[in-house]
Amino acid sequence: MQRVPHWHNSRKLVRLDVKGRIGASVLSVDERNHAAAMRLVLGIESSCDETAVAIVGDGQQVLAEVIASQADDFATWGGVVPELAARGHVASLPGLIDQVLSQAGVQLESLAGLAVGAWPGLIGSLLTGVTAAKVIAQRRGLPLAAVDHIQAHLAAVHLDQPNVTYPLVGLVASGGHSNYYLGDAPGRFVMIGGTIDDAAGEAFDKAAATLGLEYPGGPIMDRRAALGNPRALTLPRSFIHDDTLRLSFAGIKTALLYQIKGPLGRDPMTLDENGINDACAAFQAGVVDCLVSKLLLAAKIHQVRAVAVGGGVACNSELRARLTTATAAAGLQLYLPKPRHCADNAAMIAALGHFQIERGELAGPDLVPLPTGNAGPRRKSLR
Ligand code: ADP
Ligand code: MG
Repeated sequence: MQRVPHWHNSRKLVRLDVKGRIGASVLSVDERNHAAAMRLVLGIESSCDETAVAIVGDGQQVLAEVIASQADDFATWGGVVPELAARGHVASLPGLIDQVLSQAGVQLESLAGLAVGAWPGLIGSLLTGVTAAKVIAQRRGLPLAAVDHIQAHLAAVHLDQPNVTYPLVGLVASGGHSNYYLGDAPGRFVMIGGTIDDAAGEAFDKAAATLGLEYPGGPIMDRRAALGNPRALTLPRSFIHDDTLRLSFAGIKTALLYQIKGPLGRDPMTLDENGINDACAAFQAGVVDCLVSKLLLAAKIHQVRAVAVGGGVACNSELRARLTTATAAAGLQLYLPKPRHCADNAAMIAALGHFQIERGELAGPDLVPLPTGNAGPRRKSLR
């Protein structure tokens, strides 16, 4: 592939831990012939601290994918440092693009198009992916789709799932979002409810900090919750008995803080390992109760028979188990991507890009990314 030279030079300057690589091993001859019959889209995701590239066939079959995470770098900061994240993307993108092309045995020329996560996100981070995608699209004369990251979390349900039926209600629960959507096609969702304060992932991260656990808090609280007693602490579930699609996690977060640290931090509890596990289990149970009950309510209000769930919090094992039993009991079809396609990834960007390119929804060279707060599916009403 064509490379932009200074990006390569910058790789030597920036330390980047490339970990958690996922990818199809090199394809067999049969798989390559099958791949040649599909419309292939290369997706790029760089909205936060994960640089991801993937090649997806017909919006559903992942041929190759790779993720470089900077999470370890940011653990010491307790969160993402935007400028460092953008530099990390610049350092790793060219190598990752090369890697997926060679894993899939595909040339840029044989792609049906490119897709890039263009909003919302950190503006410096988004700029790196959008610039890379525009350069390749322009140089190779390929169609380019500008993808909404939130809509892409819901389009992830198409990966490995050829028969997704619409309309459906979607829940995106991540570090920055916890909202419900109603959609009639991939990428065509409007917001119908959601959190009025913290996102679920943000609440997990803050609760973990209260308990002295590392960032990001969700995965470690998930693991520790499995060893704890969810009834050891009593925590509130805001709005759970009303008939609105509102969520709020500020109350449960603050209740945990007060129980652990005491009012004004004056009477802290001394928690042993079991106490921390219990607190994780109680907190997780509260968040999961709210997310699941409002999803069922949304399906009832909007009279749909199918629900889709995406975003990093959809990796949570208790949430996945509860979604499976609750939707089966309610007679709903559940679309739940594999955990690796719930967290930020490029396969979901390529999947949605496929549908946009098929519909002729293309971006031009004037595409500019939009930062968090300036974009995202339109809010319908907070019922
Ligand atoms: P965003 O794109 O909004 O930054 P992601 O989709 O990358 O968010 O999800 C990251 C969030 O998901 C973090 O807040 C993290 O704590 C949370 N998360 C990841 N895995 C789990 C889990 N197993 N349980 C609960 N939360 C999780
Ligand atoms: Mg995300």
